[in-house]
Amino acid sequence: MTDPRRRIPRTDALLAEPRLVKAAEELGRDRVKAAIVTAQQRARAGEIAPEDVVEAALAGVESPTVRRPAGLAPVVNATGVIVHTNLGRAPLSGSALEAVRTAGGYTDVEFDLTDGRRARRGRGALAALADAVPDAGDVHVVNNNAAALLLCALTLAPGREIVLSRGELVEIGDGFRIPELLTSAGTRLREVGTTNRTSVADYAAAIGPDTGCVLKVHPSNFRVTGFAAEASIAELADLGVPVVADIGSGLLRPHPLLPDEPDATTALRAGAAVVTASGDKLLGGPQAGLLLGDTALVERLRRHPAARALRVDKLTLAALEATLRGDVPPVVVALDADVNDLWSRAERLAAELTTRGVAATAVASVAAVGGGGAPGVELPSAAVSLPEHYADLLRAGSPAVVGRLDRRRCLLDLRTVPESDDRRLVEAVMRCTS
Ligand SMILES: *Cc1c(COP(=O)(O)O)cnc(C)c1O
Repeated sequence: MTDPRRRIPRTDALLAEPRLVKAAEELGRDRVKAAIVTAQQRARAGEIAPEDVVEAALAGVESPTVRRPAGLAPVVNATGVIVHTNLGRAPLSGSALEAVRTAGGYTDVEFDLTDGRRARRGRGALAALADAVPDAGDVHVVNNNAAALLLCALTLAPGREIVLSRGELVEIGDGFRIPELLTSAGTRLREVGTTNRTSVADYAAAIGPDTGCVLKVHPSNFRVTGFAAEASIAELADLGVPVVADIGSGLLRPHPLLPDEPDATTALRAGAAVVTASGDKLLGGPQAGLLLGDTALVERLRRHPAARALRVDKLTLAALEATLRGDVPPVVVALDADVNDLWSRAERLAAELTTRGVAATAVASVAAVGGGGAPGVELPSAAVSLPEHYADLLRAGSPAVVGRLDRRRCLLDLRTVPESDDRRLVEAVMRCTS
């Protein structure tokens, strides 16, 4: 008696099956392979007959349970929100992706290939950051901006006070709050001023022998308007204690479209002792915390015992260096995109979809920077407008397309979609119609 399991088709035979070949071309070989493996396992377990493995694999390719073998599913961000926290903030540039691939193997992250000795970890990324901000005496990189703030608190104010405006007690998101982050490092907060108005005199009155530093936090996800005032970094720098400036978004220089968004160069010139920022917001790189500032202070941060617990992976260092030295990152492309070009694309895509029987129109839209900064800034944009029910269908597709619901329409905002994805977008919409 032959074991029926011997009749289970082999993986290479299945991968050559014409319908599975076609599925692999459309949806990716990894996804098809995962469906094949699952179908084979089910046949081995006797759940299905060996003859049914091909059909089961085909069904599996379509089914949501195996459609995401790699864990994280690729998404086309058509929300118009450039730095979308729930969609992974900044997508990496081509150069950064390439660098990550290289760094995934053995790499010279802490090794000097010219003399065969140990070298400073991540010196390529640090040099790229230092070159990008010549006003910084030195730079350091940690896990994220929260880690950068934690390191500042641990280094500058252990058991001492951080002076901070009541208008800058910011909740970052997901229930995490900067004041609580700071007190978790064993510092005390000395809150000054009010929610809407804090003057330099308020800070001056609070500074004393117990002051470790003054912290200035950019309100990057909300805006206080009306009867409001705050002290500038330049004014605070004159008070004789180090000023830590959390600029949030990671702009290294001023950006013409975002006049109210702080940048590292301006903050340092104003006298900040150290600037902290995220790597994966407007800089458009990997998750990272950037620390830029006074040479001696950055050295103290780097040497703090906790720095080791906050350090970044070689993949992050590789991606950060390539973000700074390589292709323009997608976030910057999206931010700088010309609205007329977005319009032409929207009209072209809507025309093609209409020809193919979809009720699509090109419409004006308003995009946003997102959780990464510049609250309230409206970026003119253009979108393809579809009937509302497309939203669910597109989100369930592969790649998933996430649009924006607006007055019972599903808008696909093109500011956040790279032009090279226009074809994928059309195909994704067409798959929803079949
Ligand atoms: C985003 C943000 C943070 C948190 O940064 P992460 O990199 O997510 O840790 C802290 N402060 C400000 C002002 C921010 O905008």
